Amino acid sequence: MERIEFIAVGREVLDGRVIDTNSSFMAQVMKQKGHVARFAQRVGDVMDEVIDAFQVAEARSDFIVVTGGLGPTVDDLTAEAFARYKGVALASRPEAVAQIQARFRSLGRELDPKDSDNLKQAFLPVGARILENPAGTAPGFSWEKDGSRWFFLPGVPKEMRAMLWQHVIAALSENAAYKAMHWATQFTRESELQARIRKQIGIIPPQIEVIFRTRFPENHVGLEMIGHGELGGEFDRLCGEMDRLLAPETFSRASRAEELAPLERVVIEAARSRKARVLTVESCTGGLVAKRLTDISGSSEVVWGGFVTYDDLAKESLGVDPALIAKHGAVSEPVAKAMAEAGRYRAIGAGLQEVEVWSVSLTGIAGPTGGTPEKPVGLCHVAVAGPGGLLAHVQTQAPALRERDENRLYFSQRALDLLWRQLKL
Ligand code: ATP
Repeated sequence: MERIEFIAVGREVLDGRVIDTNSSFMAQVMKQKGHVARFAQRVGDVMDEVIDAFQVAEARSDFIVVTGGLGPTVDDLTAEAFARYKGVALASRPEAVAQIQARFRSLGRELDPKDSDNLKQAFLPVGARILENPAGTAPGFSWEKDGSRWFFLPGVPKEMRAMLWQHVIAALSENAAYKAMHWATQFTRESELQARIRKQIGIIPPQIEVIFRTRFPENHVGLEMIGHGELGGEFDRLCGEMDRLLAPETFSRASRAEELAPLERVVIEAARSRKARVLTVESCTGGLVAKRLTDISGSSEVVWGGFVTYDDLAKESLGVDPALIAKHGAVSEPVAKAMAEAGRYRAIGAGLQEVEVWSVSLTGIAGPTGGTPEKPVGLCHVAVAGPGGLLAHVQTQAPALRERDENRLYFSQRALDLLWRQLKL
């Protein structure tokens, strides 16, 4: 089985400007073939240090993927460092020049034969195999000798990804069964989820890993197993149990973590399947719920629009009874409900008579100022008004010690959640 190592070359991945997402992306993809890398290095654009990194890698790994430092600028020195490390010359490779020329032509430009910067990218170690880069000008290369295999890909993530499958993953052995399932849940603490899983599902074999990832206010839970095909049946059984256990708070489930849908997409899908139109009436979130819904491509079929009614007068001008605000305060259940209904009447009055109209509203205290003992920072009332006089409400409290932005995000999640739960009834 290959011993895999990643090396990310570039000062920017060391000094904090760029996060080494290349290695994490490659790791995710390799897992699907049943492999997990053993090491990952990061090194700056310094010749001796890059050579050091190569030495260290080859001493302990035999499938090494290097990203970055293949471009036209003087600090791009990966190819030269590798040539020096292997004691071979760098030579301009006609095939690589042809690739760069073709790339220029595809962009409607002609490569100037005196453009030494771009032509530099065609200088590769003698004996290396050139790898075509369909998304950029810098070709990659590979090297297979003495039992180890090296792959050199550009640092730009889009280019790296365009080359990864064809040139690197294809060369990796099909190792063992990989099984995974992920659940996107929300509003539950990781520790609480863990305790519930332990209590209700019991012992999970050590070969099956339980993964927790918090993306406030969401918690993603996963089961993952690499190899151990004999436990396939047990894995499927555990997935069934997790489905039942997590059903109340799960809004998305997928075998790949990156395919979990955001809640706003789930809401849009639920509304679309009912051919419903949705609108928002927001106070404390200032339009965030509408923004999240309209982040989803194709949302125009579903989202009708939204109102940001921040001041009491703005709420009243939409149709909220001033007496309600005077009696209960702007942050209250009756006002949240009145906001949702007022928005819904507006949309129907504007011509939305033939379809289901759903309105979601929020009024709360995002902080850090404005809280009182009765109505603390983090309190929010959410309401949904829908067809047939439906009026749902939830009072929620964001977890303590959160910043304004996090409170608003939490509120928006609560609003989307309440809307989704009503839509799917
Ligand atoms: P090209 O010449 O095609 O741009 P390159 O191999 O020269 O490719 P670099 O110059 O090393 O690539 O990096 C280009 C950009 O790609 C960096 O500025 C950074 O934004 C991004 N990048 C580089 N390495 C990584 C990495 N490991 N993870 C994520 N992004 C990276």
